[in-house]
Amino acid sequence: MRILISNDDGILAPGLAALVNAVKDLGEVTVVAPDSHQSAASQAITVFHPLTVHRVRIEGAEGFTGFSVDGRPADCVRLAIRKMLPEPPDLVLSGINAGANVGAHVSYSGTVAAAAEARLCGIPAVAFSACMASGEVDFPNAASFCRMVLDRLLQAGLNGQDLINVNIPDESLGEPRGVRVVPQSPADLEEVYHKVSEHDGCEIYELRDFQFAPGEADNDVDSIAAGFISVTPLIVDRTCHPRLESLSECDFGGITRVQN
Ligand code: MN
Repeated sequence: MRILISNDDGILAPGLAALVNAVKDLGEVTVVAPDSHQSAASQAITVFHPLTVHRVRIEGAEGFTGFSVDGRPADCVRLAIRKMLPEPPDLVLSGINAGANVGAHVSYSGTVAAAAEARLCGIPAVAFSACMASGEVDFPNAASFCRMVLDRLLQAGLNGQDLINVNIPDESLGEPRGVRVVPQSPADLEEVYHKVSEHDGCEIYELRDFQFAPGEADNDVDSIAAGFISVTPLIVDRTCHPRLESLSECDFGGITRVQN
């Protein structure tokens, strides 16, 4: 099996090394990752400058050889699939992100976006993130749970339509209590912008606290809070199918210009 691995925390991130080491016996692994931190890049791509690729050797006990790209996570994945790799990979993995990507975070996540880019290319993809509410992640430990989930997903069978988002609960909660297959939480974020100062007619705000507003249960947010690993299949088609149906009944009539 040919596996492409990327992330959004950058080529030097310990979560990437841990993931590479946790899956390297599954086949031929190629790492193509951003050369700098790209968290919250979402599925941005680089349009105003060419992309430079460097072959890099990451040293250490979990060292590996890979490629760094001065671009976004989505750039890395598409460039690798379409240009760099002699053949398309069978599977794309992203992570392990330092921090959970659940609920509204999924929209901002570069980790999930790297996997989503693979899914757009028709390649099954799994994104892995580890909650770090307590400030630390033991990545090799989190990676062992990612591998366990991946083995079960591979056993169940993955296809080119698959974009799976996996989150490991905070290690302060102890060993994960199990795996829950759950939807993404629709809950909004609590107030995240805080005014830190105001001077000379200028206000300064900082983005902090990514707490979720209380919402419904049985989703990715409440699963990891309860100490379970969450597994959420995502889609890239943003069409709202129920609204498509009801809006189709709206009579837009012929084309006319509205005069003001
Ligand atoms: Mn990140």
